[in-house]
Amino acid sequence: MDPQNILAQETGATKPALRRGACLKCPRCGQGKLFRGYLKVADRCGACGLDLTPQRADDGPAYIVILVVAHLIGFSLAPMFGLLGDRPALIATILGLASVALSLAMLPPVKGMFVAFQWVRAMHGFGPGREAVRP
Ligand SMILES: [Zn+2]
Repeated sequence: MDPQNILAQETGATKPALRRGACLKCPRCGQGKLFRGYLKVADRCGACGLDLTPQRADDGPAYIVILVVAHLIGFSLAPMFGLLGDRPALIATILGLASVALSLAMLPPVKGMFVAFQWVRAMHGFGPGREAVRP
C-alpha cells in the first residue's frame, strides 16, 4: 500500500477534517477550538490534546483568499458599472469595502482548512510518532 494512504488512514479522512477546519474546529475531534485568536492557531486542542504546533500555513491562506476575492471583485466590476452607471468613486468604495469584508471573513476558515489538510496528510511533523519525540 502507498505510504501516503497509510498516513491518511491513520490520521483521518480528508473531507471531514477539512470541514472541521473550515468550521474553526480541531481537525481530529471537531470539538476543540483551532484558533486562540483571529488567526493565531492554538498550541493544542482543548478537547483531544492534538498538538497543533507543527502547522505551517504561513502565507498560503492569504494567497488563496486573494485569488478568490480578486476574481469575485474583478468579475463584479462590469455588472456594477451597468447597475450604478458612470460613478467610479462609488463603485470603487463599494468594491473596496466588499473586498476587505470578504477577505476578513474568508481568512480564518481557509487557514483552518490549511491546518486540517496538513494534519490529515501528516505534513510538517503531524506524522505518527511526533508525540513521542516532543515533550
Ligand atoms: Zn481535538
